Amino acid sequence: MALIEYRGVSKRYGEAWAVHDLDLDIEEGQLVVLIGPSGSGKTTTLRMANRLVEPDSGEVRYAGRPLHSWRPEDLRLGMGYVIQSVGLFPHLSVLENVCTVPRLLGTPRAVAERRADELLHMVGLDPASYRQRRPRQLSGGEAQRVGVARALAADPPVLLMDEPFGAVDPLQRARLQDEFLRIQREIHKTVIFVTHDLDEAVRLADTVVLMRDGRPAQIATPAKLLAEPADDFVRAFVGEDRSLKRLARVDVGGAFRPVSVLRAGERAPEQDASCDGPTHHWVIDGRGKPLGRVKPGDIATPWRTLPTALKPYASLKEALACMLEEGSTVVAVIDDAGVLIGEISLTAIAASSGETGSGGAMELSKTAGTTVPQSIP
Ligand code: ADP
Ligand code: MG
Repeated sequence: MALIEYRGVSKRYGEAWAVHDLDLDIEEGQLVVLIGPSGSGKTTTLRMANRLVEPDSGEVRYAGRPLHSWRPEDLRLGMGYVIQSVGLFPHLSVLENVCTVPRLLGTPRAVAERRADELLHMVGLDPASYRQRRPRQLSGGEAQRVGVARALAADPPVLLMDEPFGAVDPLQRARLQDEFLRIQREIHKTVIFVTHDLDEAVRLADTVVLMRDGRPAQIATPAKLLAEPADDFVRAFVGEDRSLKRLARVDVGGAFRPVSVLRAGERAPEQDASCDGPTHHWVIDGRGKPLGRVKPGDIATPWRTLPTALKPYASLKEALACMLEEGSTVVAVIDDAGVLIGEISLTAIAASSGETGSGGAMELSKTAGTTVPQSIP
């Protein structure tokens, strides 16, 4: 059962439908991004999740119970709400703003303030220089960060975020997205996130809901949305450069292959007659770190400069950028300790970005690197 369920939900203002016969499941722990043109019903959908807007017909359920059986105040405390124009209390300091709900819920001051400092740090604001400021002493972007920290401080199971990074410049925005993803990987909140920025949607979403005229035009994973737009509207919305966007979304971890390794001084095996063997071998040090590559038959020698290496959670877009920079068609893949665990090749990237085939990148990421060789009798 989904944590939040919309069933045949409609909302009308005057003659016009803001949301029309919407069916949508928000699974627990998922980050669902609502995206679409202005006026397509994203904000109305979001606000119906916590009764800030009441539907005219249909039903929204939270944790299996119809929303109207929940008290609005319980819903609003259980669902942190972050909006673009933040709504910080102007007469309270940043610290007091972030601590408001925890304090109301009885968290001891020292505990709430320590947590607030952690959260401020997490959203990129140095607690020492920000905790005593008033909202009017913040830039728009800083105020938004405080808004995110305040929503997280209450530790609600659900976060409703309406263009929360909208007023932040692109660089800071990318940083905030990264930070937010990192946190989300730890805390697994159920998040409904509204944006009109496709890159943001692709970067953050487990599931994207592309809205048109008050109902979903497509509900899919980002990779699927980019690879297989359901119709011309979706295709036009996701645009032409969707291959690159898709590469930004697919991790190296799903597409790399194991490699053959040697210690410095060892001789690489000759290419066998069938030419089926590897075209190169990796040279590693005593701890397994990559030092370079050699051709079959050569003596393994480290390169003068260390080869570029990526972690499995780097994107294929980053891998492609490394290849273009290094003039190489393979890049080493290392674990967090720096140990070589495989390589990502241009061929694998090309296979991922291909427009043909049914599943595209996602299919590939499930199978590549785990192919089992035919057993030899
Ligand atoms: P989005 O967030 O995708 O831009 P909204 O959900 O805010 O879209 O709005 C959907 C439609 O409903 C728009 O046409 C908007 O003008 C209309 N609408 C939203 N809220 C109100 C309101 N309070 N009164 C009248 N019309 C509204
Ligand atoms: Mg809106």
